[in-house]
Amino acid sequence: MDFMLSEEETQFKEQCQHFASEILTPISNKYGETDDLPTEMIRAMAEAEFFKLLLPEELGGKGIKALKICLAREVLAGVYCPADVTLAMQGLGSYPIFLAGNETQKAKYLPRIGEGELLTTYALTEPEAGSDVNGIKSHAEEAPGGFLLNGRKRFISNGHAAGIVIVFAKTPLEENARALSAFVLEKGMEGFKVSKRLPVMAPHDLVELEFTNCHIPKENLLGELGDGYRIAMKTLDLFRMSVGAAAVGIGQAALSAAKAYAKERVQFGSPIATYQAVQFKLAAMATELDAARGLVYTAAIKLDRGDSQLAKSASMAKLFATEAAFRAVDEALQIHGGMGVMVGSTVERLYREIRALRIYEGTSEIQRLIIANSILKE
Ligand SMILES: Cc1cc2nc3c(=O)[nH]c(=O)nc-3n(C[C@H](O)[C@H](O)[C@H](O)COP(=O)(O)OP(=O)(O)OC[C@H]3O[C@@H](n4cnc5c(N)ncnc54)[C@H](O)[C@@H]3O)c2cc1C
Repeated sequence: MDFMLSEEETQFKEQCQHFASEILTPISNKYGETDDLPTEMIRAMAEAEFFKLLLPEELGGKGIKALKICLAREVLAGVYCPADVTLAMQGLGSYPIFLAGNETQKAKYLPRIGEGELLTTYALTEPEAGSDVNGIKSHAEEAPGGFLLNGRKRFISNGHAAGIVIVFAKTPLEENARALSAFVLEKGMEGFKVSKRLPVMAPHDLVELEFTNCHIPKENLLGELGDGYRIAMKTLDLFRMSVGAAAVGIGQAALSAAKAYAKERVQFGSPIATYQAVQFKLAAMATELDAARGLVYTAAIKLDRGDSQLAKSASMAKLFATEAAFRAVDEALQIHGGMGVMVGSTVERLYREIRALRIYEGTSEIQRLIIANSILKE
């Protein structure tokens, strides 16, 4: 897929690969699978300016280019998932401020996010509102000086480490009883707590949040009252395709592990790579991952060119890449035979890591609905 990248983008991907092998791999070896984000990892990512990919140029960033975000996620996810998730969450928790924040809000939060001094996250999901965003129960009522927020959020990534959270809550309006608004919540605000850390099959800083009569100053409302749904969806348009990029990175890591094992493992007197059944698995994995990469890069290039009809491409990229990468990881494990299910083997870890990508930022079923709705309207 390199023909889809400019010389500068190719160089950027190589720089990411250099960071991954020289700096991130030792960090991954040192900290391993953990729910607690290693500070050393955040510092290293900040020094390598990964978080600047999420900022506009006028705030010292690199201009929020979807393709570069995707290239970075592809490389990071193949090496250390906490790094990939952190880049994604810094984006999901800063893009709403970029999209809808006023100058004061942008100046207050974005430069610190770009430096990795402030971690952020995005809180849409609730116990009764997963795929169905309209089911959101959290609600913010106008109160003197701002709003009173009550409700809960579930499955919030990096929620333990984050210093701020973008929270979407119902703020019924006369013209729209289901209107949502977006707020910046800061850790330490009275009535806001991380109520639970959630253990996941592949470690992940995942939490539940609780808001009890939490007073949000009016300065912390993002955009207009009732603008939350648009802000939430526009943010997903960008980051959904990048989940596809992360999936490609994980799938590629599985393919590399399977190829190496197939060349080395001897059965019936020959390396298993000489058997056509194994070769066909490798061929299918490589083909599907290349197709996935093509869909991801296409969606990202469209966004960077300002194409406003993005939902279909972003969903296709996410759907195909996460499903293809899942198949690739499963086949890589099969090629490893019994060694594949041994705790501590690379493919065993990838098998657990890839699974959630078909669920978060919209399940595969929801992506199919978005694609179908879009083609039926064409
Ligand atoms: C590891 C992880 C990290 C996450 N991080 C975040 C985060 O940082 N912030 C955040 O806000 N959320 C986050 N999420 C939440 C995630 O986006 C939701 O889990 C996801 O949207 C699905 O919601 P649900 O789990 O409630 O499943 P449900 O919506 O209850 O879905 C259950 C099943 O029903 C299917 N289904 C539902 N509706 C339909 C329909 N209309 N047609 C066909 N099938 C349907 C789904 O596809 C799924 O298979 C995270 C989730 C995970 C697992």
